[in-house]
Amino acid sequence: MTSSDPVLEIRDLRVAFHGPRRSLRGGRTITQAVDGVSLDIQPQEILALVGESGSGKSTVARCVLGLVQPQEGTITYEGRALGPIDKRPAELQRAVQMVFQDPGSSLNPRMTVGSIIREAWKVHPAVAPSGERRETMRELLAAVGLDEGVAARRPTALSGGQRQRVSIARALALRPRLLVCDEAVSALDVSVQSQILRLLVELQRTRELSILFITHDLAVVRQIADRVAVMRKGELVESTTAEQLFTNPTHRYTQGLLRAAYDLEGAVEVTFEEAREQIS
Ligand code: ADP
Ligand code: MG
Repeated sequence: MTSSDPVLEIRDLRVAFHGPRRSLRGGRTITQAVDGVSLDIQPQEILALVGESGSGKSTVARCVLGLVQPQEGTITYEGRALGPIDKRPAELQRAVQMVFQDPGSSLNPRMTVGSIIREAWKVHPAVAPSGERRETMRELLAAVGLDEGVAARRPTALSGGQRQRVSIARALALRPRLLVCDEAVSALDVSVQSQILRLLVELQRTRELSILFITHDLAVVRQIADRVAVMRKGELVESTTAEQLFTNPTHRYTQGLLRAAYDLEGAVEVTFEEAREQIS
């Protein structure tokens, strides 16, 4: 492969969920969460996947992470198929890491920050040889803007922004090439959001990462993305550069999302749903 081949290729992905509720005819309800999504992420690119709640973004992420199995379609990482997480070779498990929305629930409150990070190395010991771990820990914490002392503390003693830095450090501990961030800043105050977004952009450059950055918030997209893919009801409706999207959105749905995010009239808050009604 050449350097211009995509890191991640998603082709015609389809995921349906069968609900527990029985319909009147006795069949199960089916939600087509992802309905034919194809996208590529290039080396060292930040691709934002954006859309309102329920449009299927997290389901795409969970497929990339091997936590959900699609009924149809393929996902490849540097040309190699990405199957269920427990069937991935160690090298692929390591190469694709995630940062979730709520570090409060994804970081074990009974463990110290240091032990949370070291846990990753128990599964993949070759990433950080034991003689180098103390130094690697120091580097990792510094890279995410935390001082060394944080290693001895528990997540509950930290602020939301610090906890999200710990989540990022834990992901980076395995030296991934692709980071999947699902609403990674959505629970944070706007000023803290900007700090974390700047950190991700810096880490993308210094660690040569590709990032699949999932958010419902276009204001966030503007701060971080190289390219943007817009989802609606399980389908991609627009895929373009971030610059194009904000200066010249071609799809009416994207125009609606922008109107919702930026409240162009300056008068009222407009939700995604209201904006959609205005344009349909
Ligand atoms: P988003 O992340 O864009 O908010 P999701 O991918 O979480 O969207 O959800 C897409 C659709 O799939 C929604 O209708 C959601 O209710 C449904 N869904 C997601 N996960 C499951 C699941 N495990 N079981 C049943 N339905 C699900
Ligand atoms: Mg989601």
